[in-house]
Amino acid sequence: MPQTIPRNEQHELRRQLESRRDELEREIEESVDESEQRADLRGQVHDEVDEAVADDLGENALAEAERASEEFDAVERALSRMDAGSYGLCVVCGDAIEPERLRAEPAAERCIDDQRRLERETAARSPSL
Ligand SMILES: [Zn+2]
Repeated sequence: MPQTIPRNEQHELRRQLESRRDELEREIEESVDESEQRADLRGQVHDEVDEAVADDLGENALAEAERASEEFDAVERALSRMDAGSYGLCVVCGDAIEPERLRAEPAAERCIDDQRRLERETAARSPSL
């Protein structure tokens, strides 16, 4: 079983998580603004092709906002686990998450085994066409 990430490294990861959180906050605001602007644009264009383009762009911006807000939540959860002293432990099995995994992805909340299991299950639930 791998060792938990050392405390002194958690400080560095906390800094990374906090700046990522600020970044995501801006990204979400921008994407939401953008999708609202597209919605306005859609109201103004009368050409059907332009309207479809405006629609697509608005949807992309929304999808982007959604992805960013999921990551934002994960970052927030990681920060609150740091406060609670349970940072770096897998939320499924409670084992220490591999430190190299946390260095690459500070918001990781599952060990690699549980992450892979989750990805397999997610893939099974929503088969790609
Ligand atoms: Zn696990």
